[in-house]
Amino acid sequence: MALAPERIVGQELIDIYRKVEVGERLSAEDGLRLYETKNLTAVGYMANMVRERLHGKRTYFVRNQHINYTNICNKFCKFCSFYAKKGGPDPYEMSIEEVRRRLDWHKHVDITEVHMVGGINPRLPYQYYMDLCRVVKEVLPNAHVKAFTAVEIEQIANKGGVTHEQALRDLVEAGLDSLPGGGIEILSDRVHRELFGKKLGGDGWKSVARAASRLGLTQYATMLYGHIETAEERVSHLMQLRELQDETKHFVCFTPLSFHPEKTELEDIKPLTGYVDLRNIAVSRLMLDNFEHIKSFWIMNTPELTQAALWYGADDTDGLVHEYEITYKEGEFGNKKQALTYTNMCAMIREAGRVPIERDSLYHEIKRDPEAMSGKPTRQLTPLSVMG
Ligand code: SF4
Repeated sequence: MALAPERIVGQELIDIYRKVEVGERLSAEDGLRLYETKNLTAVGYMANMVRERLHGKRTYFVRNQHINYTNICNKFCKFCSFYAKKGGPDPYEMSIEEVRRRLDWHKHVDITEVHMVGGINPRLPYQYYMDLCRVVKEVLPNAHVKAFTAVEIEQIANKGGVTHEQALRDLVEAGLDSLPGGGIEILSDRVHRELFGKKLGGDGWKSVARAASRLGLTQYATMLYGHIETAEERVSHLMQLRELQDETKHFVCFTPLSFHPEKTELEDIKPLTGYVDLRNIAVSRLMLDNFEHIKSFWIMNTPELTQAALWYGADDTDGLVHEYEITYKEGEFGNKKQALTYTNMCAMIREAGRVPIERDSLYHEIKRDPEAMSGKPTRQLTPLSVMG
């Protein structure tokens, strides 16, 4: 006999459960209660209802490669461990030939997505960014180029002396396929002022997102949590993204990003717990009713927590990922892994009771011959539409 919902979510959250049950949009006040309740199991249960309604057991991942082309940056964000600074990582700037070499390294993996972001390096000319896109298409003609946060788009536009829209047009002509959506961290003027005042603020970030939407570019969105933001600011971020998605309909996936304080100016903040990470995934799933996918980025959350997150609202794990350098490098902070094999990714998802689905960047399923995992992909043309 099925348990009464009150037994599962308690009287405290039963009104929210009733809304979730019929697909009614949650309010900012509901979002705040979901952040404040101690009953994380109830929040996860409701998020899983939405996750299974949309995707059943299907869990997506992509064969991707990250390229962080420079760590030289003039924005000095307090939460950032990536940019080159005294006592921090050595400065680097990849030549286009170096990028080509890195793409060649992983050719055998049959990468379908190349994700490129970097610091705001004033020495790089306009043409460099176009060449970055071009070299990917030269080496991997079928790969999807997901590149540049709104902060980088502003830098590129400034370098070229053109509008955001023109810079995006030139990048698309050179091979850009989508924007990864990061850069704003959290849409709060207070946090912006206190932690990353030198880079683009919320209005600028939205203006780039709107310009990209006008060009029909697919976009992704993120939220960096666990630093100085409040629960109200997290809810406000989610509400602003939901409104922007109602307007633009070009976001396909949302990723809550867990803050890692190691080697940042905020090192005295305590590292986050799995309890906080699972809650952020679950609340995102519940509040962002017009985002089709919610991702648990396994590099930040660990594969183990990601397995649990697949029952707390997440339906995507990111991908195989090679050479991600933003949060930490492979070997730093306890030898955390930077890449999973196809087999390990599928095993991780299956162990959690979910069904692994390899996808491309736009969530088309990619079927492969199980006997030849590195063989040519056959794309199945069943696109999952952007909701809203
Ligand atoms: S978060 Fe980005 S913009 Fe800020 S310091 Fe780091 S690399 Fe630069």
